[in-house]
Amino acid sequence: MRPLMAIALVLAAGLGIYALTANRDREPERLPFPPLSGSEESSPFDELPSAPIAQDFAPKPVDFDGRQAMRYLGDVCAIGPRITGSDGMKKQQEMLKKHFENLKLQVKAQTFTAKQGSVGKPMEMTNLIVSFQPDKKKRAILCSHYDTRPLADQEPDRRKWKEPFLSANDGGSGVAFLMEFAQHLPKLDLEVGVDLVFFDAEEFIFDRDLDRYFLGSQHFALAWRKLGKERPDYMGAVLLDMIAGKRPRFPVEQHSFRGAKALTLNLWNIAKQQGCDMFVQEHGDTVLDDHLALINVGIPAVDVIDFRYPHWHRLSDTPENCAPDGMIQVSKVLGAWLQTLR
Ligand SMILES: [Zn+2]
Repeated sequence: MRPLMAIALVLAAGLGIYALTANRDREPERLPFPPLSGSEESSPFDELPSAPIAQDFAPKPVDFDGRQAMRYLGDVCAIGPRITGSDGMKKQQEMLKKHFENLKLQVKAQTFTAKQGSVGKPMEMTNLIVSFQPDKKKRAILCSHYDTRPLADQEPDRRKWKEPFLSANDGGSGVAFLMEFAQHLPKLDLEVGVDLVFFDAEEFIFDRDLDRYFLGSQHFALAWRKLGKERPDYMGAVLLDMIAGKRPRFPVEQHSFRGAKALTLNLWNIAKQQGCDMFVQEHGDTVLDDHLALINVGIPAVDVIDFRYPHWHRLSDTPENCAPDGMIQVSKVLGAWLQTLR
């Protein structure tokens, strides 16, 4: 994940693949957003004449255990850095495979080869796809990247960039959340299947000018498109990125709003109905993240992200600077949303 400012997003014609060039900055771009009604006063959240959530919608609650999720976060970070292609990543993959198979979920490794610009030769990378009710055609995606950045390059002291970087919230929180959330899927009233997707190489970045982000999600999206009629009918995808900071805020990420408006409004409406106030009813930053690859191939995808997390890409992104509260609210929203899908 990274900010948009001064980034050219070049769409390769017809392929839906984007190449990214750079001149990055700490601050994300805030795109001007015209109010839907033409009135300066109105928020898009007032613009729901046919809000998809019925007043009496009463989903089964998710009995999400925040303390257990924090223990999982500790387990993930105890591995150390989980950089693409590293032993740490392998250990994490083994841990996740065991965890989800114990829950009787189907675990598939989607391995592919990609060449990162600054790395001399092509290398293997792997997305993990964990499926609940794998035979259902209609499905939802809950996803997160699970690699960690090789360099903590928001550390002001450049000498610290190469120190071991745990990246607890950025890459760890989505994993810990899905490890806990998955246990509750069988207890919900679900008509759809659910794929928990862990993207590799979201930020396998050594050289900001040569290297590409989002290699895993791009591979996943293009592989899905190639399946043609055989492919799952994805009704929507929710990307989780940095959801376990202390007192997190999840305003509406702007690519989500533009690329998947109905789903975005739906989620924030559900959040309001469920009393999840960290899903602030405000427009937030514009963030380039794994959801764009999905949007590019026609899967509505929304990024739930606390982009103002103060430890972002710093050595201080550790479990001590994380908390369960954001994950608990996300569990309520996602649990309810999944039960609206028919
Ligand atoms: Zn990151």
